[in-house]
Amino acid sequence: MQLSKNSNKHKQMKRHNFSAGPCILPQEVLLKASEAVMDLNGSGLSLIEISHRSKPFVDIMEKARALALELLGLEGKGYKALFLQGGASTQFLMVALNLLEKRAGYLNTGTWSDKAIKEAQIYDDIYEVASSKNAGYNYIPKGYEIPADYDYFHCTSNNTIFGTQMKEFPNSPIPMVCDMSSDIFSRQLDFSKFDLIYAGAQKNMGPAGTTLVVVKEDILGKVSRKIPSMMDYKVHISKSSMFNTPPVFAVYTSMLTLEWLKNLGGIKAIEEVNEKKARLLYSEIDLNPLFKGYSVKEDRSIMNATFTLANEDLKETFDTMWKEAGIEGLNGHRSVGGYRASMYNALPLESVQVLVEVMSELESKA
Ligand SMILES: *Cc1c(COP(=O)(O)O)cnc(C)c1O
Repeated sequence: MQLSKNSNKHKQMKRHNFSAGPCILPQEVLLKASEAVMDLNGSGLSLIEISHRSKPFVDIMEKARALALELLGLEGKGYKALFLQGGASTQFLMVALNLLEKRAGYLNTGTWSDKAIKEAQIYDDIYEVASSKNAGYNYIPKGYEIPADYDYFHCTSNNTIFGTQMKEFPNSPIPMVCDMSSDIFSRQLDFSKFDLIYAGAQKNMGPAGTTLVVVKEDILGKVSRKIPSMMDYKVHISKSSMFNTPPVFAVYTSMLTLEWLKNLGGIKAIEEVNEKKARLLYSEIDLNPLFKGYSVKEDRSIMNATFTLANEDLKETFDTMWKEAGIEGLNGHRSVGGYRASMYNALPLESVQVLVEVMSELESKA
């Protein structure tokens, strides 16, 4: 009750949050999550102090898993959804442990792909089907071949740091694994093209602490090595994502966000908003002579827009202006510099409008 009374105050305090991750979440999700921390659905108990084996939490886990498959259009197609721990970074290794027998092919499109390759290298020689490393990862390689006799092909759908995004996916002759951490649930794709999708929750789905894994069951169980239980997808599937104590708060809050998305009209509806936000910002970057986009136009991410100032002398002025406008989290990743505007699902169009106004105001001042 008290929390609801304060919700207006929270609204006023809310800044335009362009953070790359952990990311902005819908206000109503934050409110419901904080209420559940105090009292889960009037039970007199907190979400974070009940048994994860109790009916209320088992229901939450099952709902979260079902919503993930429903939103991706993968119900009844042989897929299982899991909410695991250890972040997307643990998936770099878990994918290799579960699927890599002889050799795998990786598309290297950025820091995260590079890290995924490094982890898989522990188990076997990895073949890079293509890489944009020499160009500072400012584009997505195309027209590469995926060897048909490899175990799997791995790609990263959106490059959070460099601001590029795969618009098309290959018709892979072997199982296709994709790290979708920073654009899952943001745009419509034929998700059944993929055999394994993973995503750390904190970019576009919820708070840090859980990782969604959506895996087609029939690709599992084909490697000869022994897999430690916590690293074995089959173990997690057989225990309905409850092999050990799950991160209850992160799963619940992700479930609320997925519910929010479903009520909005699902991925189709949010994609329209996301495209509108991206068009607005990129057109300002292109039209305003004071700014330059980092990545090549055809591969620009609708989630993370990266750009720099044409004249670094304006940095102090620009930084003061956006901070005063209530904008947060606009600095580029330390490896790229410049600016990065992350426009995840919960970021309102209005926040992008504010940023664009500040950018055009800078032009009129300079
Ligand atoms: C952030 C990010 C990761 C790392 O996620 P963690 O959950 O911190 O391990 C991996 N891949 C991509 C594409 C990311 O954006």
